[in-house]
Amino acid sequence: MRTGSDYLRSLNDGRQVFVDGERVKDVTAHLAFREAARSIARLYDIAAAPEMRERMTFVSPKTGEPVLRAYQIPRSHADLRARRLFSETWAEATFGLMGRTPDHVAGFFCGYAATSSVLAAGGQNFADNVVAFYEQLRDNHLYASYAIVPPQIDRSKPAHKQSDPTLYAGVVKERDDGIIISGAQQLATGGAISDVIHLSCIHPLQPGDENYANCLAVPVNAPGVKLYPRRPFAIGATNAFDYPLSSRFDETDSYVVFDNVFVPWERVFIYRNLELSRDQWWKTPSHLYGNHQAQVRYVTKLRFMIGIAQRMNEMTGNVANPAVQITMGELAAWVSIYEHMLLAHEVTAPIDKAGVLWPSRNALYSAMALQSELNGRMLEIIRELTGAAMITLPSSLRDFESEETARDIERYMRSASSDAKTKVALMRLAWDFIGSEFGSRHQQYEKFYGGASFVVKQNVYRSFDFARANALVDAALNLPPLASDTDSD
Ligand SMILES: Cc1cc2nc3c(=O)[nH]c(=O)nc-3n(C[C@H](O)[C@H](O)[C@H](O)COP(=O)(O)OP(=O)(O)OC[C@H]3O[C@@H](n4cnc5c(N)ncnc54)[C@H](O)[C@@H]3O)c2cc1C
Repeated sequence: MRTGSDYLRSLNDGRQVFVDGERVKDVTAHLAFREAARSIARLYDIAAAPEMRERMTFVSPKTGEPVLRAYQIPRSHADLRARRLFSETWAEATFGLMGRTPDHVAGFFCGYAATSSVLAAGGQNFADNVVAFYEQLRDNHLYASYAIVPPQIDRSKPAHKQSDPTLYAGVVKERDDGIIISGAQQLATGGAISDVIHLSCIHPLQPGDENYANCLAVPVNAPGVKLYPRRPFAIGATNAFDYPLSSRFDETDSYVVFDNVFVPWERVFIYRNLELSRDQWWKTPSHLYGNHQAQVRYVTKLRFMIGIAQRMNEMTGNVANPAVQITMGELAAWVSIYEHMLLAHEVTAPIDKAGVLWPSRNALYSAMALQSELNGRMLEIIRELTGAAMITLPSSLRDFESEETARDIERYMRSASSDAKTKVALMRLAWDFIGSEFGSRHQQYEKFYGGASFVVKQNVYRSFDFARANALVDAALNLPPLASDTDSD
């Protein structure tokens, strides 16, 4: 198994990541990425621990060695449950705060490999490529991130009608041994600390956009791949007491520029094919497996969220207040709905003719469609409950250390049930979760990680069983006459 230190060592590979106008020499040493990379390393160590073998691994059919369950193609409901327990273990280790851990994109490649005949419509070689690449990811425990949305340069025009045809990542040259990609893709969360970037397009494409209708993979350190992360929050997280989450779990989101990147044919899975570019999301279970992991992670985060709220109520002395309990009851109801929707993905998952299990599309997309609004609603409930508790805090840990300030802080900032330091630690955790730049980015993440909500709602519309609903209405309109209507007198 790959260990955390194997993973960390492999990241120092000459990749081009830029922060504050400078190229980062080694992401494992740079303040922006060091702790996030160590958080991922811990996940590898958890999976490699011998006592976790059954929960975290299955046997590779090719090598006979244990490999991450994230790469297990589910063929039964028990297999999907096993994938859930795997992802839950990793999500609990990161409190659901790292969305694109290696198990996310692993799910997409499981989906492609499980139904590679779909990609074979573009040529059998592409289907063979995707299976071989899936096996390479699986047998080497690799971490893929992905960039599947083009940049918001001008959404009113299709890809090929942008002011410059090489703004969106697309093919600019074909060679005997592969293709050359140029252009940008707007986001790869975790890209800077992953092994491989999966480039594809989930945005609707139209005739003329063929150059952008690809699915392929490139190593993060491939010549010409450049990553421009947004402001990394770990840089401003001065210490772990004041920023317990930003300092450890900022997976970062990077703009990805492909500057004439060579991709060998073996790493190309869809090539200039508009139909397959769309079908990869609908006719394979890729989007379902990847987002099943996303919901496992989200449910873990919701449990963490409600735990923070409950601990804060205890600290402020409000936990026994009936009005507070009713509000917490509403929060608990939303969390429970998400917990049970996750089980519904599994329980109502059909198995196709080839024996591959597909998590319920309708259950998955319904949960995702409302997440955009409900996540904000849940955070509002917590803000309401806490009053000024996350604000009436010392300026930093140093106020506990200075002789001039420590006495006042310790005397007045305590709670009835704990000393000041314990209370402040909890409230800083809550603020980092809800109000810091890290917390705010998380709200944006939950709104958009699975696509804009209008798109997800269209997906629900397409997958909902309207025939059954309509049949009820038709039956009601065709009820037999009342006895009084048929009375002869
Ligand atoms: C924190 C974060 C992390 C992300 N991580 C990744 C990642 O790892 N990999 C990746 O590929 N992508 C990632 N994404 C990108 C994500 O996939 C996109 O943001 C998402 O698909 C939405 O696309 P967009 O941002 O281009 O919004 P747009 O499509 O430009 O839409 C923006 C808004 O415009 C309005 N709008 C636009 N068109 C319509 C319409 N037809 N009908 C109604 N309203 C409309 C809606 O209000 C919509 O929300 C991430 C995004 C965020 C915020």
